[in-house]
Amino acid sequence: MEIEAMYEQLGVSRAVYEYGEAVLRDLRPRFDAIDQTAEYNQGKVLAAMQKNRVNATHFAATTGYGYDDEGRDNLERVYADVFHTEAALVRPQITCGTHALTVALSANLLPGDELLSPVGAPYDTLEEVIGIRESKCSLKEYGVTYAQADLKPDGSFDYDAIREKINERTKLITIQRSKGYATRPSFSVAQIGELIAFCKSVKPDVKVMVDNCYGEFVEPIEPSDLGADMVVGSLIKNPGGGLAPIGGYICGTKECVERCAYRLSAPGLGQEVGANLGLMPSFYQGLFLSPTVVSGALKGAIFAANIYENLGFACVPNATEDRHDIIQAVTLGSREAMVAFCKGIQSAAPVDSYVTPEPWAMPGYDSDVIMAAGAFVQGSSIELSADGPIRPPYAVYFQGGLTWYHAKLGILMSLQKLVEAGLVKLPE
Ligand SMILES: *Cc1c(COP(=O)(O)O)cnc(C)c1O
Repeated sequence: MEIEAMYEQLGVSRAVYEYGEAVLRDLRPRFDAIDQTAEYNQGKVLAAMQKNRVNATHFAATTGYGYDDEGRDNLERVYADVFHTEAALVRPQITCGTHALTVALSANLLPGDELLSPVGAPYDTLEEVIGIRESKCSLKEYGVTYAQADLKPDGSFDYDAIREKINERTKLITIQRSKGYATRPSFSVAQIGELIAFCKSVKPDVKVMVDNCYGEFVEPIEPSDLGADMVVGSLIKNPGGGLAPIGGYICGTKECVERCAYRLSAPGLGQEVGANLGLMPSFYQGLFLSPTVVSGALKGAIFAANIYENLGFACVPNATEDRHDIIQAVTLGSREAMVAFCKGIQSAAPVDSYVTPEPWAMPGYDSDVIMAAGAFVQGSSIELSADGPIRPPYAVYFQGGLTWYHAKLGILMSLQKLVEAGLVKLPE
């Protein structure tokens, strides 16, 4: 069967397919550059696995307390080597990215300390963690205060404001690499490195944590290569490679990571407890696949930006910008268009392709959220997914795709649904 006929069978009209092919023709050099980064990062992961002599005994399941869990301990050494840090905490007991960040923050901030975000407001779910929105057990409730320096209107760091906000109580600085649900730019690792150097020049003993969610393996280096004391993320995003069914990681200095381990389990117990419950094969293999998976997701993001920018929708990053995470924001301008876009992504999925996404009040978010995800791991956003809060400017955040071909189909289907709803007209 011809490829056009295959796409028609999947629901993509010939006009939408041909429009996509025309857009793709110009993207080949950028795809080559993405493949080169993936090749480099594959080497980095392989070198860490070889150095730590990964073997079949590391895949064995443990239960109960998980004392002497060599598979878990060795995985943490592998992560530490991949991120070039002294230590790592990589656990299925870390339930999600927000949890990993909460552990990192609450382990390293004590009553009377101040947390500073020099990059504007943090990710939505962290508002309750910090206490920007009132919540039980927030850092604020424990006497940790919060300060924020906003970005300049052009999205750059406001160094004067940052210097002003750093005071004798500033203990930890949190830098979010990816834009999250904001339409600011994401930061390159080099930019983050400059910001870290600046903060440490103002206050040498301040600790810096980077929320690395969605950024892993997008570039050849990570924020931990440029002075971050902790990098933190979720295993159902990039580094889980689509295979990890749960989990989070914190890589960083021994001092910081040790405290995180005591916070996660209990003072005195730390990293010694925490059974792996049979998840080691998916954690190791997911990390192994992650650089390739991330490369497919990046191609999908760039394809989406080029498709939608051509049709007049604002995209962040735009069609030609360099990438620092796998997220693509497309400002669709209306609730109807967000729903149509998400319907398209959903209908392209291998799992739950027949369900219709609807906006709902998701815990941790202060407006209705729509989500399209037909994933093998529920809620996984390294798998092809789209979501966004239903509020102006009605931007949908598109990410993931375990393979480039699936990401491509998803984007073509999103366009198909917008065309069918009369919300987009293809150029003649
Ligand atoms: C996803 C994400 C989080 C939170 O992770 P969850 O797994 O959804 O709890 C935090 N920060 C950023 C930038 C994210 O993208």
